[in-house]
Amino acid sequence: MTAQIIDGTAIAQAIQDEVAAGVVELERDYGIVPGLATVLVGDNPASQTYVRMKQRRCGEVGIHSVGVELPKDASQEQVEARVRELDADPALHGILVQLPLPSHLDESGVLSAIDLQKDVDGFHPINIGRLAMKGRDPLFAPATPSGVIELLDRIGIEISGKEAVVLGRSNIVGLPVSMLLLKRNATLTICHSRSRDLANIVRRADILVAAVGRTEMVRGDWVKPGAVVIDVGINQVDDPTRKRGYRLVGDVAFDEVKEVASWITPVPGGVGPMTIAMLLKNTLTAAKRTVHKP
Ligand code: NAP
Repeated sequence: MTAQIIDGTAIAQAIQDEVAAGVVELERDYGIVPGLATVLVGDNPASQTYVRMKQRRCGEVGIHSVGVELPKDASQEQVEARVRELDADPALHGILVQLPLPSHLDESGVLSAIDLQKDVDGFHPINIGRLAMKGRDPLFAPATPSGVIELLDRIGIEISGKEAVVLGRSNIVGLPVSMLLLKRNATLTICHSRSRDLANIVRRADILVAAVGRTEMVRGDWVKPGAVVIDVGINQVDDPTRKRGYRLVGDVAFDEVKEVASWITPVPGGVGPMTIAMLLKNTLTAAKRTVHKP
């Protein structure tokens, strides 16, 4: 079997086009332009790049974006006070605090300062708590994990009742994607660095989500024939033939696994483009809710 490739770039573009159309409608019908604030503390180059990408994509869909930058030695009180000012601004419907924060700051405290209705990144402790509870739903779910579910939905994969295995339990990816799969009634197994006999656990999966950050860890003979494989991993591998000196590969040995799986995401071009698309979607949802209160 050769797997069908899940084209995350095309699916993310479709979502972005839907958001752009939604933004036009919201302004036409209610005079509301969705607004997103990004909060960047310090000068981590990767975080600066991510924030710039988010702002650029906001511009592409007509979302108004405001970039707030604070120095790397900003105090807890200063950061929380700035977030509260953004909470109070009615032109802003979403607030995203770029993680990780400098180590002297208490991440949970800063995220808790975000108005729940504006928590478009879904990392407010109350939203994460609701995500983990049966019968309760978060106002927003984190972008990369939601992107994984959206990919499954858009290629028509039924999640309910399936064996899902998630490799990784980070707060950013593994844990929330696991909770989302559980909410959709998957039978769930979560693996981490202390899990034993990974290959045998992974072989049970109808749906496999790999989010460990280990280059091509999942081999072809770990995967059940016909499984759907979603590779969240982004790893840099030296490659002198490339201009920048490296290439990006996933946590899954793509060439081997594509011969066994029914569907597979490539890296790059799979889950990666979904993150910002889902953030834009959440920001539009937040703005719409100011009209139609949930
Ligand atoms: P992380 O915080 O480092 O978490 C990695 C997880 O994998 C941990 O739960 C860890 O277990 C587990 N793990 C590590 N080595 C393992 C091993 N040998 N066997 C089994 N489990 C192992 O990473 P993350 O933030 O979740 O990111 C994971 C990957 O996704 C990275 O490559 C990252 O670049 C990528 N990523 C992509 C996107 C995107 O596409 N937009 C967004 C975020 C992250 P313990 O909990 O026991 O330590």
